Amino acid sequence: MSRITDVEIYKFMPQKQKTSDKWKSVYTARPISKYPEFDSKEQRMLSAGATVVKITTEDGLYGYGATGTGLYRGAAEIMSDAMRPFLLDDCDADEIEKIWDLNYKATVAIGRKGLPIHALSAIDIALWDIKGKKLGLPVYQLLGGKVRDKIKVYATGPDLEMYKKLGYKANKIPIPCGPVHGREGMKKNLEAVERVVRVMGENTEIMLDCWMGWDFEYTVKMARMLKDYNIRWIEEPLVSTDYDGFKRLKYILNSMGILLTTGEHEFTRWGARELVENGCVDILQCDIMYCGGLSEIKKIAAYCKAHNVMLVPHSHGMPVFHFSISSLVSPFAETLMNRIENPLFFGVPGIKDGYVEMPEGITGLGYELNTGFSEYRMV
Ligand SMILES: [Mg+2]
Repeated sequence: MSRITDVEIYKFMPQKQKTSDKWKSVYTARPISKYPEFDSKEQRMLSAGATVVKITTEDGLYGYGATGTGLYRGAAEIMSDAMRPFLLDDCDADEIEKIWDLNYKATVAIGRKGLPIHALSAIDIALWDIKGKKLGLPVYQLLGGKVRDKIKVYATGPDLEMYKKLGYKANKIPIPCGPVHGREGMKKNLEAVERVVRVMGENTEIMLDCWMGWDFEYTVKMARMLKDYNIRWIEEPLVSTDYDGFKRLKYILNSMGILLTTGEHEFTRWGARELVENGCVDILQCDIMYCGGLSEIKKIAAYCKAHNVMLVPHSHGMPVFHFSISSLVSPFAETLMNRIENPLFFGVPGIKDGYVEMPEGITGLGYELNTGFSEYRMV
């Protein structure tokens, strides 16, 4: 028994997060881009930020879990009002599976997808961190142990010169334009691809992150325009619940030698099942911090394995790396180097020659909150 004695919740304000200059200047196509009059930087900020939970037990151990960038205030309030009371009411931190179910059942009437799942994801991750510390083992050992020595990674973002120096051989670019930007926008997307070829070399694999900002017709036209480039996949061109659209699109893109990926904005084993069973994806990209935490990604991984679908979780950080190094369905991982100088957590390993190596001697997830990380507010 490890009784939970404290649950601290931190809300990190989006405007205070420091990102590289290149990231600040990036405009990406989003679903809201359809309404240019409402698509302002301020509006987008409303759905950014991060929530971090620190759970402490009676043995003096603590663990961290984070979620974001989905309306940080909402996830923090749900955690505070609908989940923390249970955790402090005689919950045993060792009983991770039961706590997941408790949090899910407590919010299922208002949840199933979105912010309640974000909130329970962060709590689940923090409990795995505690369990690893209690047993004196890194979390990847609890997940089954290493299946590879190091993790091959690709870079997401526009800092191409930096990625080249770090030895990356694959780059995912945030796509600037969508259907509302017309033919000129398509040319800008093409220029973004050509810049990768110019800076990182023609053998670099290129992936396009469309963040639900395209539609079916536009995706087919862009794929045709880019068919002679080394495009590995087109990511999330449609709104995440358009299962039928993804299914039809996958067939067309695959015939051009391009993979279709999605899942970053899908939730739980039940959402993942829709994407896998309907043949919507070549690579599923559920985010451990959004989809239900490490407990849920384990279940999703088993399902992917049974269906021969790759699972490459969205995002960067210790939960992703512990999962990736211990998962047979995750042959590589994503990295986001946008907060390299002021990270949310310390202890996350850097990139060398396009690979991440797990640090020696860590217990739990092996990270520590950067309390100097811009401004935060506790709930
Ligand atoms: Mg994405």
